[in-house]
Amino acid sequence: MLSVFCSPSRYTQGKNATAVLGAEMTGLGLSGPALIVGSRSPIRLLSEIWNRTLAEAGIAYAVLEFGGECSLAEIERIKQAAKQHKSQVIVGVGGGKVLDAARAVAADLNLPIVNCPTVASSDSPCSALSVIYSDDGIVQGSRFHRKNADLVLVDTQVIAQSPPRLLVAGMGDALATWFEAKTCVDGGIKNLRGGLSTQSALALAKLCYRTLLADGADALRAVQMKVVTPALERLVEANTLLSGLGFESSGLAAAHAIHNGLTTVAATHDYLHGEKVAYGLLTQLILEGKPRSVMDRVLGFATEVGLPITLADIGLTELTKEDLQKIAIRATAANDTIHNEPFEVLPDMVADAIMAADALGRAWKKDHGPQ
Ligand SMILES: [Zn+2]
Repeated sequence: MLSVFCSPSRYTQGKNATAVLGAEMTGLGLSGPALIVGSRSPIRLLSEIWNRTLAEAGIAYAVLEFGGECSLAEIERIKQAAKQHKSQVIVGVGGGKVLDAARAVAADLNLPIVNCPTVASSDSPCSALSVIYSDDGIVQGSRFHRKNADLVLVDTQVIAQSPPRLLVAGMGDALATWFEAKTCVDGGIKNLRGGLSTQSALALAKLCYRTLLADGADALRAVQMKVVTPALERLVEANTLLSGLGFESSGLAAAHAIHNGLTTVAATHDYLHGEKVAYGLLTQLILEGKPRSVMDRVLGFATEVGLPITLADIGLTELTKEDLQKIAIRATAANDTIHNEPFEVLPDMVADAIMAADALGRAWKKDHGPQ
C-alpha cells in the first residue's frame, strides 16, 4: 500500500497579499485571460487591487458574481462564462462555496485554479474536492478533483475584516483535524486520496491542534478589532493550510460524519460547518472513550473561543427522539467516515454519545461558565 500526500502547488499568505496576486500567478506560469468568480463583498473590496496587480502582470480578466450556491446549475453557468471569455485560468474569491464551485469549473474545463479565501471558516481552500449542493442548499455529495489548487492566496487583511464567528467556525473545523487524522492513522485507514498517511501529514495535523490552543483566543481578539497580528497569521495558517493538508492527507473519522448527521435536522441549518464539526468532535471523543484530560483541554479551548459544546449551542434545544435517531442513522451511513473508527459504530452508540456530549458540555458550562 502506498502513502500519498497532496497539497496546493503554492500557498501564499499575509497582510495585503492580494497586491501580489498577478506576480504570483505569472511566477507559476499562469497567464490570462482569467475569470474571477467572487461573492459580492469581496468584489467590492478587492476590485481596485485586482485592477492594479493583474494589469501589472499583463493578465486580462473578467469578473463574474457568484450565484450563491455551489450547485450543478451554477457550475454550468460559470463554465459558460469561462468559455465565453476564453478563460485560461479560474480564480475563486470568497467563502467555501465560491471556491468549491470555482474548483469544479476549473476541473471540468481542465484549467488551472487559484483560490483566494476571504474568510478562514473551513479547511476547504487547500483541498481538491467540492461539496455540491442542490439549488436550495441541500448537500448532494462531494466531487473529487484530479489535483489541488495551483495557488492558494490568503490575504490576512481581508480575513481580519471578516465576521469573527467565521474565524471561530474555522477553528471548529481545524480542532477536529488532529483527532480525526490520528484515528485514521492508528487504524491504517486510507486518506482522501486513496493512500496511506505520511508522517508529514500527521505532524501538520498535530501542529494545527497546538496552534489553535496557543493562538486561537488571541487571533479571535485580533479579528474582533479588525487588526492583523502574528497570532492571527498563525491561526489563519492553521485553519486553512494545516487543517486542509491534515484532513486530506490523513483522513476524516466520526466528527465529520456526525456533522453530516446533524445537518439532517433543520434547526441546525443556521449553524456553520465548523460549529457542527466541533460538536461532532466532542461526540467522537466520547465514542472513543478519551480520558478526562483530553476532554478538559478540548472543552476549555471551545469555551475560550465560543465554539458549541451543547446541543442548545447548535440550535437543538429540544431534540426529539426521532430527530436524534435521524442524526445517528445519517452519521452511520454506509459510506461515511465514521467507519474509519477502529470499532464498529452503530446508530445507538452515536445517539448515546451525542447525549453524553451534551450532558458533559452543560456540566462544563455550569462549572466554568460566566457567573
Ligand atoms: Zn470540515
